[in-house]
Amino acid sequence: MTNYNAVTSEVVDKLKAIIGDKYVYTDSDKLETYSHDEVTDPRYIKMPEVVVLPVNAEEVAEIIKLANSYLIPIVPRGAGTGLACAAVPFKGGIVVSLERMNRILEIDTENMIMITEPGVTTESVQKEANEKGFLYAGDPCSGDSSFIGGNVATNAGGNKAVKYGVTRNQIAGLEMVTPSGEIITLGGKLKKDASGYSLMNLVIGSEGTLGIVTKIYLKIVALPKHTMDLLAIFKDLDSAIALAPKLMGIGVSPVCVEFMDNATIQCVEGFLREKLPHSADGYYIIVQIAGDNEEVLEDQCVLIDEIATEMGAVEVLVADPTVIWKARKAYAEADRARSLVFSMEDIVVPINKIPETVRYIEDLSKKYNVAIHCCGHAGDGNIHANILKDQHSDKEWEEILPAVQSEIYAMVYGINGKLSGEHGIGYKRVAALEKYGNPTEIKMMKAVKMALDPNLIMNPGKVISFDC
Ligand SMILES: Cc1cc2nc3c(=O)[nH]c(=O)nc-3n(C[C@H](O)[C@H](O)[C@H](O)COP(=O)(O)OP(=O)(O)OC[C@H]3O[C@@H](n4cnc5c(N)ncnc54)[C@H](O)[C@@H]3O)c2cc1C
Repeated sequence: MTNYNAVTSEVVDKLKAIIGDKYVYTDSDKLETYSHDEVTDPRYIKMPEVVVLPVNAEEVAEIIKLANSYLIPIVPRGAGTGLACAAVPFKGGIVVSLERMNRILEIDTENMIMITEPGVTTESVQKEANEKGFLYAGDPCSGDSSFIGGNVATNAGGNKAVKYGVTRNQIAGLEMVTPSGEIITLGGKLKKDASGYSLMNLVIGSEGTLGIVTKIYLKIVALPKHTMDLLAIFKDLDSAIALAPKLMGIGVSPVCVEFMDNATIQCVEGFLREKLPHSADGYYIIVQIAGDNEEVLEDQCVLIDEIATEMGAVEVLVADPTVIWKARKAYAEADRARSLVFSMEDIVVPINKIPETVRYIEDLSKKYNVAIHCCGHAGDGNIHANILKDQHSDKEWEEILPAVQSEIYAMVYGINGKLSGEHGIGYKRVAALEKYGNPTEIKMMKAVKMALDPNLIMNPGKVISFDC
């Protein structure tokens, strides 16, 4: 366990000397924004001591060197849309916000690489690529606000992962500042690289614990000419959820296969005040397909329609993408509007185990008399199960939540699943990873952390903890 030092006025003065007075925040009004991410449970809020907004890698490096010399934690921060409390400064220290590093630096159409700073929103990256006739395939539901650097640090998944993979699969290179303050580029404009350990891949998904990403080399691909969204509606959970694994082996290569259970649909409908089809008793599977040949896509639609109907779909619609994706993307906000305090679980299981996992969660909901709304990326085995506090008292919630979580995690690990498919471990799931994760794997993670960050200043208490 490390005893970190507090941020003194001397440290604040030195930070101001590095990046200028204007970009060092110490007023509580300004600090509040950085005291939480999208997790609204008051237990996961902590005011920073100081927030700094560097504008380039050199400034980041100076800040990290200063933090090492004073033994003060550093907490990197993107847009704060995280769902694992990974950007919250629980051990105090300096929050390094990347919001001013927000430029798209280059689009290299010959090498199919876009280079950006970390504070560009995911949506801006997508739009810029589209305007040049390319696709940036990273697509988390939070894309209108999350930063690309945050996506790298969390290895964000999203709505195109079935076909194109997660953020890791979109990265060709990174510039980063190491925990000792050196600036290094890992990878680059390369299609392949077998030159030693893949440190770049170690950094992707490390949630700010192994350094700060300051520049990103993103892969871009040709933009498909046509996209179609299908909505298959079922009247029972089992048939709906069984469609996802079925679609994987039919040669269609969907961009995504998303799932919304009935409780989620009703909650979203109430929140958006927009009528959704079969909302009284429907379960949705949303399938997106994309390609250059419209006729081929139409044939694929027919095939998906036939299979879904065979499996019990009461209706298969060519969906209006704006309506259906607005509904799909609003699920977390809708749950929050109903119950400010809720826990979003992010389990991932082999795709063919999704039906039994969702059924199991539904049974737990009845057993503990707690609402659990299931929604998510069924096509990559990633289910978001939102456990809602609703009318339960704080005392009841403190008993129900860990009990439900324990049962879910034990079940998931029993079928070779994991705690998080895309939101990460952050602070919220550290104890659970220690409990359910493979002990040798955790020992290796700690060894890597100790080797790269011997003072343990980079985002301490996240992913792994030396206090456990
Ligand atoms: C409505 C909603 C929908 C969402 N949908 C999805 C989804 O579909 N898929 C998905 O994967 N996630 C989703 N998320 C979660 C979240 O948006 C992602 O985890 C996102 O990648 C976080 O990016 P951010 O910029 O907000 O990072 P933050 O929340 O600010 O930080 C997240 C982590 O990254 C670290 N970090 C940030 N920037 C850097 C950097 N430059 N260098 C090093 N470390 C850094 C932080 O220290 C922290 O550990 C959703 C969230 C919301 C609220």
